[in-house]
Amino acid sequence: MLNDAQVIQEPARATPVRAVYDVLVVGGGPAGLTAALAAAGDGLKVGLVESRSFIGGNLTIGLPILGFLGQKGNQIIQGLPQKFIDRLRAQDAASEHRPCPLHVSITLIEPEAVKTVALAMLVEAGVEVLFYTFSADVIMDGNRIRGIITESKNGREAILGKVVIDCTGDADVAFRAGVPCEQGNAQGGMQPPTLMFCLAGVDTDKLRLSIAHEPRTYLTDFIPAEYFGQNRQFIVVGLRELIARARAERHLNIPNERTIIITGLRAGEAWLNMTRVAGVDGTDARSLTRGEIEARRQMADIITYLKHYVPGFEQAYFTKTAPFLGIRETRRIVGQYVLTQDDVLQCRKFDDAIAVASYPIDIHRPGDEGCTLIWCGDCYDIPYRTLVPTRVDNLLVAGRCISTTHEAMASIRVMATCMALGEAAGRAARLAVRAGVTPAAVNPQTLRQELRAHGAYLRD
Ligand SMILES: Cc1cc2nc3c(=O)[nH]c(=O)nc-3n(C[C@H](O)[C@H](O)[C@H](O)COP(=O)(O)OP(=O)(O)OC[C@H]3O[C@@H](n4cnc5c(N)ncnc54)[C@H](O)[C@@H]3O)c2cc1C
Repeated sequence: MLNDAQVIQEPARATPVRAVYDVLVVGGGPAGLTAALAAAGDGLKVGLVESRSFIGGNLTIGLPILGFLGQKGNQIIQGLPQKFIDRLRAQDAASEHRPCPLHVSITLIEPEAVKTVALAMLVEAGVEVLFYTFSADVIMDGNRIRGIITESKNGREAILGKVVIDCTGDADVAFRAGVPCEQGNAQGGMQPPTLMFCLAGVDTDKLRLSIAHEPRTYLTDFIPAEYFGQNRQFIVVGLRELIARARAERHLNIPNERTIIITGLRAGEAWLNMTRVAGVDGTDARSLTRGEIEARRQMADIITYLKHYVPGFEQAYFTKTAPFLGIRETRRIVGQYVLTQDDVLQCRKFDDAIAVASYPIDIHRPGDEGCTLIWCGDCYDIPYRTLVPTRVDNLLVAGRCISTTHEAMASIRVMATCMALGEAAGRAARLAVRAGVTPAAVNPQTLRQELRAHGAYLRD
């Protein structure tokens, strides 16, 4: 038996090169989907490597998409993310962008349709998708990344790209390439993960009308009771007194002071964002395993609570868990600019803005069961330099692991914003390949023109 301190020396080996791309996207979540779509076309060879068997990342775990609308009510994410929603809506698999007093806007989506529609869009665009393939290491030539080493049923292989876009959420590629990364808050604490799960047989009208008519009994956070009287699709956040009572009366072990219920697109369906496992490191397989075990253990008590205390859940029954533990926070790269809380709260503009965001700073605090929410009142820009890493050439990063502080990440992390970041990275990669330059040398004004020409929203 080897202990942690021991290592074995693997023999040197020749690794076959499986493919060579103009643009190689690693990770097929919200950012990776739009990055690959934006890079494709015009004869460019684009590949997307995904460790799971489907496209979507956290778009498939039962969450609504947040971030399409700004705090002033205008639509600040358009372009490819909106085209994706249009495709989902064509098969009744997405709602409109509904204003929400707490979350600014919510866009409900059907997770299974996401997998099918996203894959169809990539295939139509000519992107070569490779599933069941994990990016385990990188191939460097000095400061230049040449590609990745993958692990799959085929063993170890190399996949090369003129430009590589890291959309793994965890900055797996950037980290291994030697890009400086940060993780968590000043103490290293990270927002806790949640295993989402779904119940059917929920009387969602009874739930919302109970809140609307008895707001003192069913008190929600920030969202006025009238909202529930008027909206059939909604997110409930709060009911703190009910959880406290359930914990005291039934000795339930629910490490979350808030009830978070998201109505599904289908009648009677509700997704629960309530398991919470402190101290999980999403870049460590053992820690992730502990998270899965603990989150599954919490589900039984949460269901008991819902059925006995929350109106509308009396006849509810469990149908499914999300395909994996939802990870809110891991690594962030240190890029050419680090977006801060101040930038967010000052609604700062940048000359090299490639996306506009507005979701509040929303931190599920690592140290306790609470949540910090801070709204900026309008929207702010995300500069191109947050996608461009320091130290490594030919690499871009998109999604939740771009260059920000812990606090700013808690705002940019929502999925409409991640899709806009992916689109910007894909268009930048394309410009870089066409001009034969590194992504850092791409003129941000040309990139902005390109984004606008394809329907993206940017401020003047
Ligand atoms: C519990 C929870 C609730 C949330 N609530 C909301 C919400 O209501 N609305 C909202 O908009 N956002 C919400 N968020 C935030 C949002 O889901 C994420 O920040 C966002 O999905 C990040 O997008 P991404 O593309 O960067 O990464 P991800 O969605 O994590 O996608 C990364 C993809 O890369 C793949 N991958 C990872 N590593 C590798 C590798 N080494 N090799 C190959 N493939 C790899 C993964 O399989 C995955 O498909 C929530 C997050 C969590 C966890």
